[in-house]
Amino acid sequence: MLTRRWAILRGKEDNLVKDLKETTLSFKKLGKKYGISRQAIHAFSKRQRIKRPKRPKGHQTEGCPLCQKLLKISKKPHSEFTSIRTIVKKTRGSMGECQYHLRWLREKRLVNEKFGRLHSKRIEEAYAIYFTKRLPISTIGREVGLKNFASIIRQHRAWGWNVPPSPYDWRGRSRIQSETQRRKRR
Ligand SMILES: [Zn+2]
Repeated sequence: MLTRRWAILRGKEDNLVKDLKETTLSFKKLGKKYGISRQAIHAFSKRQRIKRPKRPKGHQTEGCPLCQKLLKISKKPHSEFTSIRTIVKKTRGSMGECQYHLRWLREKRLVNEKFGRLHSKRIEEAYAIYFTKRLPISTIGREVGLKNFASIIRQHRAWGWNVPPSPYDWRGRSRIQSETQRRKRR
């Protein structure tokens, strides 16, 4: 039984020894790679008296595809205003997974503290218009179905979100336009 199990490994022992000595791949992953059980890898490692390198503490962002995807999204302009739902969709991960890796990235200060905090897709939509179309806040609110977009912006600013000022005044008139009109009148 044992010989049969090792027979599969024959010819690949050297590779396995190398992997055991030089990588931090788990026994389980190595088992999959070599087509034998985790226990068999463990037994092999013990028999060969292999000292395995210590796995670095914490999460390795460079080697994590999900972290890399999250970082890529976070580097786009106004990425803090992308809702977590959109982020999850873009990374093709799950909500739990994304939250875990986001926490890690925030802790390491690799992403903005606000990145991934927004939950509402409607607010995300409103901000997307705010940043691209430069419409009055009330118009945007009507367009996406948010009655209180102005107060949401106020709240976000109070929480430290970087929301640039609207080019329109509270009456919905362009600030630049009314400025030129004022100058003409003089
Ligand atoms: Zn990660």
